[in-house]
Amino acid sequence: MSGRTGIEWTDRTWNPVVGCTKVSQGCKNCYAKTIHDMRHAAHLAGKKMAPQYAVPFEHVQLMPDRLTWPLSLRQPSRIFVNSVSDLFHEDVPDEFIDRVFAIMAMAPRHAFQVLTKRPERMLEYIGAPGLVGDIDGRSWRIREAGHAFGVAIADDVNFALPLPNVWLGVSVENQKAAEERIPLLQQTPAAVRFLSAEPLLGPIDFYGAGSRGGEDGDPFAFSALRGTDGVEPPIAGIDWVIVGGESGSSKQNPRPMHPDWARGIRDQCVAAGVPFLFKQWGDWTVCPLRHLPEDVEEVKHRRVGEQWMMRVGKKRAGRELDGRTWDEYPSPKEKLA
Ligand code: SF4
Repeated sequence: MSGRTGIEWTDRTWNPVVGCTKVSQGCKNCYAKTIHDMRHAAHLAGKKMAPQYAVPFEHVQLMPDRLTWPLSLRQPSRIFVNSVSDLFHEDVPDEFIDRVFAIMAMAPRHAFQVLTKRPERMLEYIGAPGLVGDIDGRSWRIREAGHAFGVAIADDVNFALPLPNVWLGVSVENQKAAEERIPLLQQTPAAVRFLSAEPLLGPIDFYGAGSRGGEDGDPFAFSALRGTDGVEPPIAGIDWVIVGGESGSSKQNPRPMHPDWARGIRDQCVAAGVPFLFKQWGDWTVCPLRHLPEDVEEVKHRRVGEQWMMRVGKKRAGRELDGRTWDEYPSPKEKLA
């Protein structure tokens, strides 16, 4: 298992859980489901496939044999946890999440990026009394497994939460998701809190998401990105924001991202001093023509508000926003060790 990935904001993926169910608009064209469904169909057609493809994507599978992999990865890496599932899915038992957290504590050289669309369960899990003891308690079997494979594990692992090498994030595809999920993330203790606005499906105003007030002229309104310590209780800020558009097959009908939606988030990040990463446009890019006939082919050209977009494919659309790439991170990679 190498876990190498083309996902722009990480080095590796680690999937101790496989399978998920859709929860919001951002899940409509879930790439993990698309790939799994294809391979499951191949399995049903009699092709030899990896065992996880014997069951449908919606059947959440725990993969305990993958748990110790980060311990054997020597090179300090950013690791995206569960790129084909959601660690906080209701079908993943707390005991299993404890084991994932135990591994992350035992591999402090890596930065683990946990992204969820279920922040209510994440908050409930992290806030549970006795959690540190539970995580510590799961570690002895992991140690045994690690030693059996010749993996060195430090004796003095610190299981205190929040773990300094674990980044917790929520997906925010539109204003509604931002307003529902960011406040839950802000209440969750974490070393790094991040947002993934991908696929971005609309504009997001962070003054209306995760802040108190949000009314124009309200002196207590503030950007959720910045948070505040000026009110009681203080509200945590956000440490990193990723933006990306949607890609997929014609059948999936990927949705275009208006450039102003991405610019709006970038500008709010710059104003708040929050690192911003523009991952990609997705399949659609800005059409250089301002006016097209209204009956122009929908498949290749589409109007989003006043903006015409054209479908050129993910590779051609690229990842520049206003003539440059944006690849900022909450902590430089050199600091991983
Ligand atoms: S939460 Fe993530 S993995 Fe699960 S269905 Fe939605 S997009 Fe797919």
